[in-house]
Amino acid sequence: MKAKYKHIFGPVPSRRFGRSLGIDLVPFKTCSLDCIFCQLGRTTHKTVTRKPYVPIESVLDEFTDWFNSGGDADYITLSGSGEPTLHSRFGDVLQFIALKTKIPSVLLTNSTLFHLPEVREAAVHADVVKMSLSVWDQTYFQHVNRPHHELDFEKIVDGMRQFRNHYKGQIWIEVFLIAGVNAIPADVQGIAQRIQRIKPDRIHLNTAVRPPAEDFVTALSGRELNQLAPLFHPIAEVIPDFHTDLTEHGQFNENAIVEMLQRRPCTADQIGKAFGMHLNETFKYLGELLKNNQIQVVKKNQNKFYTSVNHVPDRAAYL
Ligand code: SF4
Repeated sequence: MKAKYKHIFGPVPSRRFGRSLGIDLVPFKTCSLDCIFCQLGRTTHKTVTRKPYVPIESVLDEFTDWFNSGGDADYITLSGSGEPTLHSRFGDVLQFIALKTKIPSVLLTNSTLFHLPEVREAAVHADVVKMSLSVWDQTYFQHVNRPHHELDFEKIVDGMRQFRNHYKGQIWIEVFLIAGVNAIPADVQGIAQRIQRIKPDRIHLNTAVRPPAEDFVTALSGRELNQLAPLFHPIAEVIPDFHTDLTEHGQFNENAIVEMLQRRPCTADQIGKAFGMHLNETFKYLGELLKNNQIQVVKKNQNKFYTSVNHVPDRAAYL
């Protein structure tokens, strides 16, 4: 199966966004951070340079084709292989979506470029801006998010606050909590105090329910997250996929993936290519299958392979 589009993917089932069409504006994996919990793996191109990483005309053509073919989704999300605000024309994409459809748009951003006025001005065209903030100072920023060397934590928080002052849409903030790293109540209170200055409409708590970039990253339980949620104002919502929420299409993909992994171990990239899915969508299914103990991760030659739990290991199969 070959993917029809290069820059758009899905719609992917999502607990927060229902059926979400993804628009990917940067090549894999271009980001200003290299978070230890990133489900896409380590950042291969760490940068703060803003430029047209992919041709905007191709993105808009693909979106128009999808829309004119009867495409429908609950949200259209700028997300994908890295940080979308690195694309110097992400605001034009948001404006095009608003002209073309009434489907709400979401900007999924790590917020590191919000100290730049041009990024704040472009972001106002999204209906929802979902930012992330999982630390309380520069030291932990470096430990957890491993930022580009030019990034300054205080400047970023100030940029987020300035954006709040003139943006009329919804700001949601995601906090990613990791056992033994940033999840004791004193840590979480520090994060909550920072977030309070930004006055978000909603706060979401997430944890490592999908394979993270670094093996030492471990998830909190749903109970632990629920205990920490009241430390935030407004009270945070616990959002990891502890509950399965898959469409019929998603269930079909899961079964097909398991069948393939019973025959041969594959990397996430290989699975995505086999099913014509974007890596984000692939990780969504792999996360569900891992959670339900239907597949497992095996490390070989510094690569992560996924296999069915019924698969009998065979060294040659990993080559
Ligand atoms: S989690 Fe997001 S911000 Fe962090 S490295 Fe991955 S893509 Fe970048």
